[in-house]
Amino acid sequence: MTRASAGEPGADDGDSVVYDLDSDCTAEDVEKGQPYLAEINGIVDYGVFVDLSESVSGLVHESVLEGTFAVGDELVVELESVRDNGDMAFEPVDTEVDVDDLTLRNVSHDYALTGTDRLEANVGDQIHLEGEVVQVKQTAGPTIFHIADEYGVVPCAAFEEAGVRAYPSVEVGDVVRVTGTPEHREGTVQIEVDGLSKLDGDDAEAARERIETALESRSEPHDVEPLIDWPAFEKLRPNLRDVAKRLRRAVLEGRPVRVRHHADGDGMCAAVPVQVALEKFIADVHEDDDAPRHLIKRLPAKAPFYEMEDATRDLNFALEDREKHGQQLPLLLMLDNGSTAEDVPAYETLAHYDIPIIAVDHHHPDPDAVGDLLDAHVNPYLHDEDYRITTGMLCVELARMIYPDLTDELRHVPAVAGLSDRSKADAMDDYLQLAAEEGYDEDRLQDVSEALDYAAFWLRYDSGDQLIQDLLQVDGDEQRHGELVDFFAERAREEVDEQLEAATPHLEHEELDNGAHLYRIDVENYAHRFTYPAPGKTTGEIHDRKIEETGDPVITVGYGPDFAVLRSDGVRLDIPQMVSELEAEVPGGGVSGGGHLVVGSIKFVKGKREEVIEALVDKMEDAEIDEELSSAAPIDDD
Ligand code: MN
Repeated sequence: MTRASAGEPGADDGDSVVYDLDSDCTAEDVEKGQPYLAEINGIVDYGVFVDLSESVSGLVHESVLEGTFAVGDELVVELESVRDNGDMAFEPVDTEVDVDDLTLRNVSHDYALTGTDRLEANVGDQIHLEGEVVQVKQTAGPTIFHIADEYGVVPCAAFEEAGVRAYPSVEVGDVVRVTGTPEHREGTVQIEVDGLSKLDGDDAEAARERIETALESRSEPHDVEPLIDWPAFEKLRPNLRDVAKRLRRAVLEGRPVRVRHHADGDGMCAAVPVQVALEKFIADVHEDDDAPRHLIKRLPAKAPFYEMEDATRDLNFALEDREKHGQQLPLLLMLDNGSTAEDVPAYETLAHYDIPIIAVDHHHPDPDAVGDLLDAHVNPYLHDEDYRITTGMLCVELARMIYPDLTDELRHVPAVAGLSDRSKADAMDDYLQLAAEEGYDEDRLQDVSEALDYAAFWLRYDSGDQLIQDLLQVDGDEQRHGELVDFFAERAREEVDEQLEAATPHLEHEELDNGAHLYRIDVENYAHRFTYPAPGKTTGEIHDRKIEETGDPVITVGYGPDFAVLRSDGVRLDIPQMVSELEAEVPGGGVSGGGHLVVGSIKFVKGKREEVIEALVDKMEDAEIDEELSSAAPIDDD
């Protein structure tokens, strides 16, 4: 016999061609009127039974048989009939040439693939699916393989024994072929697996290429026009687009996303829209209803940098999720946070693992320190812009690039972000106008900002997902939003008033040589501790009142035993620069800190407090005064 290349039955191969089914071929691969090579596996009075493949066999009736046969003999047959019960009958084919001279043509099983986009229409029918394994979760019952193809991600349940890992050689990252039946399970579609095999060689290559091409195009962000016309923002738009693409790609690949954001108003205005956009995109991509809950986690960061405590906890959770739920390690998204040298130790910790890091921030960055550790870094300072483009403004556009349908929920958010951070951007007027069209006047936006701040304080290390969404009115209940904002904003203001009533009599005032007022307040001894407002906010509120009272340049320092919070208006400070000078000038001071240029915080050792603060005041005295007071500073209330 000659073996020819694989082909489809029915092609014009001449009389001497016989089709040889691969062992995994099914009855569907057999066509009437075509000759197939069969092997006799049993002989009975009324005929012989033949096998064409592992699952294709049937009877050749003795009435059509000539000669004698033995088990194991080869025979060329064609399909005669298929009964209702699926039983097949074959008859011998007269071949003009000797069996040994036949040309054999291989028939492989037709794995007509059903994409994850067509599961619903195929519920109850056996299908074939090819894709990449993105998660393998062992439950107390079956093993759940989450498989991503060109269209989405579907859970596939394979049962070996309760709690026993099915197909133990198949791992995350493998490309597999699944044969199984889509079934409804708790409202979603899951595939009950009949067979699952790892593809290799050309098959794997072809499948990977197909999936890669599809993911590359599906990860493309949407081209949305920014909510307002703003030339300064345009410079950052391509970078944001790149981040949107990386985030969409992570979702399509089933990689979890962990968001760490500064726990203030702007940070939440940044993180919540991105979180909601990703949740909605995840829900579209993944058949599993629980996927949004498992694949995105938003967490606040108290400091304006990535603290080691947060980083090690994030890493530990990620490794546990990999162990317990077979998840991939996450992508870390730092928002309103993550641009400075203080982030480096935390980033270096994660660099030991496959955890990509992206930062979108508007704090004064140190690109030399973090550049190599970040996979993408969006920051207005990298484009000769500054903090006035707040992270919330950036991330509303980022969220829209990921999931444009969210736009109507977000129109008021950039204004809240801008007011929270005291942005003096030209664009604020347009953003306020946009919010006004949604029914928010400036006072109301301030209420939302205060309420967010108040909630963030009490939530501490929790994200408070629904509560924050209700306060910000993104995918929230409108009436509850109104009442909750009223309640929280009022409580926040009352508590600030109480705090200031106690603290203000203890304010120390001096006039600096450069003409600025310096106010100092010992927030450790003359303010309530462990309650709202925290030292940063207390200092900020005092500062605001003094600006209003004096109309002059003002610097306010709120200090505790081992920290100081700085606020300034009308004075050109460079706090990150001052901090690095103090590190050198006060040996043993243990000075560290940073933040924005004119607003920030400094830490030091308790015993060196007087020295550090005196050195700090000297520097402030040397600072230039701004010609006009319009460059009011952003606020970080940490
Ligand atoms: Mn901010």
